[in-house]
Amino acid sequence: MPGFELFGEKEKNEVQNVLDTGVLMRYGFDGMRQDQWKAKELESALAERMKSKYAHVVSSGTAALTVALASAGVGAGDEVIIPTFTFVASFEAVLVLGAIPILVDIDDTLTLAPESVEKAITKKTKVVMPVHMCGSMADLDALKSICDKHGLLLLEDACQAIGGSYKGKPLGSYGDLGCFSFDYVKTITCGEGGALITNNASYYKNADHYSDHGHDHIGNDRGAESHPFLGYNYRISELNAAMGVAQLSRLDEFIDLQQRNYSILRNTLDQVKGISFRTVPEGGIENYSFLSFFLPDGEKAKAAQKGFSEAGVDGCFYWYDNNWHYYRKWEHLIHRKSLGNMTQEVKDQLPDYTQSDFSKSDQWIRRNISCLIKLSWSEDEVRERATKMAAVLRNLL
Ligand SMILES: *Cc1c(COP(=O)(O)O)cnc(C)c1O
Repeated sequence: MPGFELFGEKEKNEVQNVLDTGVLMRYGFDGMRQDQWKAKELESALAERMKSKYAHVVSSGTAALTVALASAGVGAGDEVIIPTFTFVASFEAVLVLGAIPILVDIDDTLTLAPESVEKAITKKTKVVMPVHMCGSMADLDALKSICDKHGLLLLEDACQAIGGSYKGKPLGSYGDLGCFSFDYVKTITCGEGGALITNNASYYKNADHYSDHGHDHIGNDRGAESHPFLGYNYRISELNAAMGVAQLSRLDEFIDLQQRNYSILRNTLDQVKGISFRTVPEGGIENYSFLSFFLPDGEKAKAAQKGFSEAGVDGCFYWYDNNWHYYRKWEHLIHRKSLGNMTQEVKDQLPDYTQSDFSKSDQWIRRNISCLIKLSWSEDEVRERATKMAAVLRNLL
């Protein structure tokens, strides 16, 4: 996955262009910038690559989620359905707006289970937010028909799946809004950065204003701009955007490498009896950033991870015990630990997560191992890994 493995001349040149002008900010300074508009350039390239009308680049993936939700008018008391297996950013983005994160079970796709989503809908539900974890997607047709039936927005968190697709559409472009992260460990990186895409002109306009203090960006005089509504600062810097311009131009090259490495591993592990791979919904194409599979039970999955690391195979994750990605370890959310007071409304409406039953998610995550696919591996290195992994698994099963 990480795009930083392959930094090269292209990245250096783009960043150097910005350093040569000295204009590190994405807005204003028109006279000094010698026509360098890296954030805008990244936005038009991203919109084109993602077959979307609009793209707006911000300071992180978490910021993209926050801005996307705000741009669609999500606020106090609205419920947003998110999966139990995701990154903490999902509920952070919801809570910061005064909205309520409603955790919902996943299935063998490792993302939102449509029938569990339907059960969780209330009068306050506004958004369903599938998170395309580890390079593959939710059953988007099923989620879309639920959203249409109940008048809900579909927001795709494609932070870990950029470059994948579903029924011919780039991941992120299928829902009403889609978000990407360009943090340091994602498939393409700006150092820090993120983006949202949409075909909705008013969400785009709202996002553009909201992420820059509510400035309306009309005219060439920033001091004369008005503020149609409150906003915050979620801007990306030109230096980070310059990295993104270079990295996005290499996305397809990176995906091809990931696919090559993924396929070598998968074809070898396919011969091992007793494991099964995560389900990819029909019509979906992964971005190949991880290879995820299930063992017969939790003990075996844990033993497999231990065996891999003893055999020198790094980068294989047992998410069931992971602090960042699975609800079991989110003690700050579960016990409502906030620095200041949470509003009474949020406290009242937030489900009591100490009492929740997510055994359906546990069934899948307990048995799962996900292995990161690196870009920098040579074919020989991948083959050696594959042989070692197959040996560990055969020993166990
Ligand atoms: C990385 C990530 C984010 C947040 O992105 P940052 O740029 O690190 O803020 C959100 N969702 C998922 C699934 C992620 O992996």
